Amino acid sequence: MTGIDDLPIRDELRGKSPYGAPQLDVPVRLNTNENPYPLPEPLVERIAERVAEAARQLNRYPDRDAVELRTGLAHYLTRTAGLAVGPEQVWAANGSNEVLQQLLQTFGGPGRTAIGFEPSYSMHALISRGTGTGWISGPRNDDFTIDVEAACQVIAERKPDVVFITSPNNPTGTAVGAETVLALYEAAQAAKPSLVVVDEAYAEFSHRPSLLPLIEGRPHLVLSRTMSKAFGAAGLRLGYLAADPAVVDAVQLVRLPYHLSAVTQATALAALEHTDTLLGYVDALKTERDRLVRELRAIGCDVTDSDANFVQFGRFEDAHAAWQTLLDHGVLVRDNGVPGRLRVTAGTPTENDAFLDAVRELMKEKS
Ligand code: PMP
Repeated sequence: MTGIDDLPIRDELRGKSPYGAPQLDVPVRLNTNENPYPLPEPLVERIAERVAEAARQLNRYPDRDAVELRTGLAHYLTRTAGLAVGPEQVWAANGSNEVLQQLLQTFGGPGRTAIGFEPSYSMHALISRGTGTGWISGPRNDDFTIDVEAACQVIAERKPDVVFITSPNNPTGTAVGAETVLALYEAAQAAKPSLVVVDEAYAEFSHRPSLLPLIEGRPHLVLSRTMSKAFGAAGLRLGYLAADPAVVDAVQLVRLPYHLSAVTQATALAALEHTDTLLGYVDALKTERDRLVRELRAIGCDVTDSDANFVQFGRFEDAHAAWQTLLDHGVLVRDNGVPGRLRVTAGTPTENDAFLDAVRELMKEKS
């Protein structure tokens, strides 16, 4: 039988496994940071209307520049993120993963490097590898905050071409303040200058304001967002960035023509019409997230402060064994490979209750 390694694949892909959390059929699935609330029925109907309109023109290629959608996203950011931005500053793609891939294709690539501060979103390293970009693993403090001094030092020494700052960070939930972004940006400009990408996939869940206003006057700073989390639309695959218009022009050098289907654009526009309802669910999830932090601490867990729609908790001598015990109780959480810790996504109140009951059982068995 032919295996992957028998194929003439690129050397750096040999022996590697694809990204993917287990998709198991269990009663309570809290492992992929999805929004637990299905889209409201009026929005489902609006999507059907908008998609029907788009379907009548599916013989044609979609708007290659997605102007109406980028205008809607710019309006959303202007309303919610503290800076007036125009469509020329916004770019959209199939999930923020594709946005990040386009950025690495444009600013990374063979002979270049990217850095992230780990543990962090593992796709930053994987997309780097996929685009032939060298990966540098930067440090964090024991409490999972970014060690600014150490980070600036490694940037000065290694001179990466792309710097990732994930805020709120996945899987730890840790957000950074503007001062941290500014310090790393200054270090990156002095070293190279390089592109600094703030991955704000979970921004809407944060206790802190968005870092979007920092892009003003900083042409090498990019903010990446997604409709997968706050908009409850992970299945839609719609991510976007905000940056200087020159960055938007630059990623067009690598984007595939007509990369964003007319169906995707129509669906995303419908979702934007229902922003207020969807942000209401975000408020409910923030309350549940804060409850998870409180109750896990009351149970005796070591919990990392969270600004996202998930919570990192521990400590376990054997995190994988704890993951399995929770699964045996019908609750699927995530083992991200952070020693002694697991990550749970905030679900509905009922799902969270089931999760907390399972953790109580786990802690009883542990002691
Ligand atoms: N950034 C971070 C930090 C994430 O956790 C995720 C999803 N898990 C993404 C980006 C990608 O999300 P999507 O491609 O669905 O927009």
